[in-house]
Amino acid sequence: MATWDVSQLLTQDRDHLLHPLYHPADHAQPHIWVKGSGATMTDAAGKEYLDGLSCLWNVNAGHGRRELAEAAAEQMATLAYATNYTGSTNIPAIQLAQRMTELAYPNLDAVFFTSGGGESNESAFKTARFYWKAKGKPDKVKVISRLFGYHGVTMATMSATGIPAYFKMFEPRVPNFIHTAAPYGYRLEGVQPGESVGQAAARMLEETIRKEGPETVAAFIAEPVQGAGGIIVPPDDYFPRVREICTKHQVLFIADEVITGFGRTGRWFALERWGVKPDILSFAKGITSGYLPLGGIMVSREIHDAMVSVPYGDRWMHAYTYSGHATCCAVALRNLEILEKEGLVARAEKMGTRLLAGLKGCADLKAVGEVRGLGLMCAVELVADRATKAAFDPSKNVINQVRTEMEKRGLFTRAVRDIVLLAPPLVITEAQVDRAVEIVRDSLKAVVPERA
Ligand code: PMP
Repeated sequence: MATWDVSQLLTQDRDHLLHPLYHPADHAQPHIWVKGSGATMTDAAGKEYLDGLSCLWNVNAGHGRRELAEAAAEQMATLAYATNYTGSTNIPAIQLAQRMTELAYPNLDAVFFTSGGGESNESAFKTARFYWKAKGKPDKVKVISRLFGYHGVTMATMSATGIPAYFKMFEPRVPNFIHTAAPYGYRLEGVQPGESVGQAAARMLEETIRKEGPETVAAFIAEPVQGAGGIIVPPDDYFPRVREICTKHQVLFIADEVITGFGRTGRWFALERWGVKPDILSFAKGITSGYLPLGGIMVSREIHDAMVSVPYGDRWMHAYTYSGHATCCAVALRNLEILEKEGLVARAEKMGTRLLAGLKGCADLKAVGEVRGLGLMCAVELVADRATKAAFDPSKNVINQVRTEMEKRGLFTRAVRDIVLLAPPLVITEAQVDRAVEIVRDSLKAVVPERA
């Protein structure tokens, strides 16, 4: 392996490179990642780690896939890029759009490609407004999203994101974005007697729609399993009810499957589990397993029909330079082939079940409030007090201590609030799952040792 002057690289990094969610307090000892293979990554110090979050929930097919590098090289050498603006197209983009209509919800029949998740949700919001204008309902402009939701950080997607830290220093938010409750079983307040958590959260959505006025609401956006908000898994009765409510009030349902798409939850797309279909699907991340940036939206036949039948002057004037990027699409096609041929969607279900069962074994520790998960998205929520579910005093930095202990033992992942997040590559082996569980348990015991 090549050698580096690590301290010089770190000096240059600190002097000149700004990072997402930037603050130097979080960047005192950054890893310089240099190599990956399967579910592991190696840093410039030569230490190997289990990749506990598939980097950013995206490296579904695992690291070190030479065939993806070859797909990129082949396409780049032939035609790396061409405009995809109306009047032009390219072969990988056409083939990938076709493939997506075979893989995703059957009511969705057209694809628009973007470069990532934020652009996808931005495209979804604009398309929802477009649709209602085309249908003669120009007042339907509002977007309802949920607390703890994460949809990106452009001005509009930041305004939909339901985690205040993301907008605090960038306000004011864009008008006409409204938050409602999440189906967060562990913490939802206001559940009425006789009502399930799923029914309560869905009722709160309907109340929000009614309060705003259904004639003003364009769309509701939701991640099937909330990721960055803390891996919040909805009860089974939530999304079927949400679908009914959206249909009843003529509110488009946007499924943000930027994380949950492409096998993560043990289905190609997560809402399949509950027999629910969205009107718009946002995707990114796993479509290329992170090897190149690519995202997009899929729209229902009705929305597609509206797009093709509006007068020319009302056309869908939305665009990105890199929409349908030939090389990104060629890599995505090869990546989807890998997911399919290696049965990685079923593998996510199987390994996820194993991971969740293993993590549930940590529930005897006093600091563990809840262990939850679906497919290869699992979380361990820590609390200072199980009875009140109170969080740890932030000054104690408990979650950072847990992360440090996990890294010492060779597991690299992210945490939010006091929640350890796990979403490893779908290729993770049984032995690696068991090792991850052992590391989480040992790390928790090192920081918060008492048993309940
Ligand atoms: N939606 C969800 C559910 C996400 O998790 C993310 C990114 N973590 C985004 C949207 C935004 O994607 P990007 O960072 O590619 O803009």
